[in-house]
Amino acid sequence: MKAALIGYGIAKSLTPEMHLAEAQAQGFVYDYQRFDTATAEFNSMTLPQILDKAQSGGLAGVNVTYPFKRAATEQMDELSDTARLLGAVNTVLFKDGQRIGHNTDYVGFRSALRGAPAMTLIQNVSLVGAGGAGGAVALALIDQGCENLFIFDQRPSAAQELAERIRCARPRAMVRRIEALSQSELVGMNGVVNATPMGMASQPGMAVDPAMLNPACWVADIVYFPRQTALLQAAQARRLRTLDGSGMAVFQAAAAFHLITGRVALARRMFNSFDWL
Ligand code: NAD
Repeated sequence: MKAALIGYGIAKSLTPEMHLAEAQAQGFVYDYQRFDTATAEFNSMTLPQILDKAQSGGLAGVNVTYPFKRAATEQMDELSDTARLLGAVNTVLFKDGQRIGHNTDYVGFRSALRGAPAMTLIQNVSLVGAGGAGGAVALALIDQGCENLFIFDQRPSAAQELAERIRCARPRAMVRRIEALSQSELVGMNGVVNATPMGMASQPGMAVDPAMLNPACWVADIVYFPRQTALLQAAQARRLRTLDGSGMAVFQAAAAFHLITGRVALARRMFNSFDWL
């Protein structure tokens, strides 16, 4: 069985290795490649051309990451409900000549949240970053019981559009854009989630200052490279409870592995390979 990850600058992504380690543990032959548009082999190819190459090359499916998650929705014959609702695809199945787009980032964050006992209070949550991953986080928070979700993005239109998208999908939820991450906006929060790239090794810094948070507030970061971001370290220094991005990364990969291979992945084992990688 063959699969691949499509994205830009994905040389360090752990997704291929997590898939390969799980296949090896299950004892079947699995070829999972990187189709990286930062490399000479792919940099002159468009997303439709790369998808054509994958499909005609007999791949069972592909994962899609930055910057193609939104554009991928336009290339599908069918979308799962979550992918349609979020307007983003991170897993594509090739079946009987058809392309079916899914979004496993949603189930990835939701599963990580469910498995985090320190994050049971989610009534009021602020989400920073309204991009592709932020959308999956927002929907997962609402479906997990968040009642009031406040979205901030340095691009106000992105925060507004996401708030409207989620309100439309879940009309009972109170979801609104906030204009600044001020102390007065953050003081009543049960939790804050960073879904911006700030904190990545390539984009150091913090999108939110934990000094503005109340002592009972938890902090989650979906960035996982590095795992202990500056934001999480600063939050821990203030003794706030934290959740790193590894859970979302592993659970989204486990769900994608299941979709592509038809075999159930053992999330615990994938966590071990993630720790080891
Ligand atoms: P994206 O580029 O689609 O969206 C990022 C959003 O953050 C943009 O809307 C941007 O305007 C906003 N932003 C950037 N800096 C900001 C700041 N300082 N303050 C407020 N808003 C800011 O990216 P994405 O695909 O949503 O991914 C975001 C990050 O999430 C990635 O860097 C990646 O590390 C991480 N991610 C993790 C997982 C996981 O499984 N753990 C999955 C997907 C993405």
